[in-house]
Amino acid sequence: MNAENPPDILRQTSKLPWIEFGAGIHYKVLRTSAETGDWTVIFKCAKGSGFPPHFHHGAGEYLMLSGVMDYRAGKAVAGDYGYEPLGVYHESTTFLEDSELLFTNHGPVAFVDGDNNIIMMLDWKYFADQAAAAEATAAEQPALA
Ligand code: ZN
Repeated sequence: MNAENPPDILRQTSKLPWIEFGAGIHYKVLRTSAETGDWTVIFKCAKGSGFPPHFHHGAGEYLMLSGVMDYRAGKAVAGDYGYEPLGVYHESTTFLEDSELLFTNHGPVAFVDGDNNIIMMLDWKYFADQAAAAEATAAEQPALA
């Protein structure tokens, strides 16, 4: 018998707040790990939005839930799965329709400028901090009748 059966994590995503990322993109934080650096989110991306150029300093993987994502590998539609290897560079990622995707990155994503200088680092800590701030804000607001 295993006396230390670890707790499961069940995230009821319909109850999680959308957090604004900017430029038509929102996300819900499902899980972050300080131990492995993994982070899992649902991205909601408005038609015409996109991610600026970035490097994956950890492999990533996604499942398209709805919409169309156009990037280096092609056009991903609902039901499509993609694996983005460690070190891959994505010059352009755009959403041709309102889209949602489940996304896990096994480490940070570094957004870069035209000279490959890092201008923003997306990592587990960023998402953990943003989720904690959103929960604190939600707790301060009176419940809507
Ligand atoms: Zn990417």
